[in-house]
Amino acid sequence: MLKKYRPAWMTEDLVQFGDVVRRFSKEYLEPNDLKWREQKQASREAWLKAGELGIILPDVPDNYGGSGGTPAHAGIVFWELGYSGNTGLGLGLNHIVGHYILSFGTEAQKRKWLPKMVSGEAIGSLGMTEPHAGSDLKAIRTRAVRDGDDFVINGQKVFISNGQLCDFVVLATKTDSHAGAKGVTLFIVESERTGFKRGRNLEKLGMKAQDTSELFFDDVRIPAGNLLGKEGKGFAQMMTKLSQERLAQAIRSATVTETVIDWTLQYTSERSAFGQKIADFQNTQFKLAELKTKAAVARVFTDKCISLFMEGKLDPVDAAMAKMFTSELHCETVDECLQLFGGWGYMWEYPIARAYADARIVKIAGGSIEIMKTIIARQMYSQHGFALQKNGSAT
Ligand SMILES: Cc1cc2nc3c(=O)[nH]c(=O)nc-3n(C[C@H](O)[C@H](O)[C@H](O)COP(=O)(O)OP(=O)(O)OC[C@H]3O[C@@H](n4cnc5c(N)ncnc54)[C@H](O)[C@@H]3O)c2cc1C
Repeated sequence: MLKKYRPAWMTEDLVQFGDVVRRFSKEYLEPNDLKWREQKQASREAWLKAGELGIILPDVPDNYGGSGGTPAHAGIVFWELGYSGNTGLGLGLNHIVGHYILSFGTEAQKRKWLPKMVSGEAIGSLGMTEPHAGSDLKAIRTRAVRDGDDFVINGQKVFISNGQLCDFVVLATKTDSHAGAKGVTLFIVESERTGFKRGRNLEKLGMKAQDTSELFFDDVRIPAGNLLGKEGKGFAQMMTKLSQERLAQAIRSATVTETVIDWTLQYTSERSAFGQKIADFQNTQFKLAELKTKAAVARVFTDKCISLFMEGKLDPVDAAMAKMFTSELHCETVDECLQLFGGWGYMWEYPIARAYADARIVKIAGGSIEIMKTIIARQMYSQHGFALQKNGSAT
């Protein structure tokens, strides 16, 4: 059964690192969960603690302040956080931001930001989505116009994770509004720049302990040295990083699924109705057996994707399949399991209620389920020798 399952890439060192993440989660995230959800953001102390323990960006090389781990170390962080059910720190998004800098940054940008990110002193956010453009990222309107040695940025972003806490944003802009995807350019914009404004910390259905914001850019002047990668290459850069982000989401969904099943096994073996345990109803057994089987399938495929990623061979279609399958299963599992908790499952004090609310985002953010299907179908038809009509989706 799954509990004994250990993927081929899991070394003793990773098992020990997993213990550190699990302890951090138990000692720092769990006791603060309800408070942070009310405050709509986690504390900076928790970020610093995570940094101290080597949990943030564990795969950053040591010359940039990291511990020189492998992608598997990062995988373990998402895995253990998924198991814990805690969603307080926006470590996943911060991790991707760090990898934008690692992959596309200049030496100066890497030296400036990575050590501080690893220690938890600097928190990053990723500004792609705008009020009128989410799935269709080519349609963004935030503009960066060159002015001598500077760029001047005007525009607006929405739904930005870590938006209240962030010290900088990796920002998608248009440097050529007529060039479609080829007009997209990324910049690093520090939050202290004049003209950078944080909007509301948005009221969400779930993931309430993570801050999610509007961001405004009003004549924000930044030096050309803040350009991340190459002018006009931002869209291609985002596409390469999206697979990594989707794999991280898949790992998390696969592990949350297993955790929620465990909570339900526990609850149904203690709770009684009609003189027997809820576990003794055949409906309960069948539901949990079905979910456990699907969770095992999800786990094996996700682990295969982790191995491919470590070999540099994970393609966008496999990442889309992993995200699509695990997201749908994640949502199905919290729904079916909450049902087995009855009315208590609907109470906020029960983790299953919070897991239910937290789950819904996984089918939307980082590329919606529909966009994942589009990516998969496009490749299927292309391999079959048929070119599908363009339907607007490239993410
Ligand atoms: C809590 C939260 C955190 C987020 N964090 C960030 C962040 O940190 N940074 C960031 O940049 N963004 C972030 N996002 C934004 C997220 O990535 C977008 O919401 C997502 O990409 C969908 O875009 P949209 O909301 O504009 O929906 P739309 O693009 O308007 O889509 C609406 C519906 O139409 C469907 N649709 C769109 N195009 C197609 C198509 N071609 N074929 C079939 N169906 C289609 C979609 O699947 C969806 O069901 C976050 C969102 C949330 C809710």
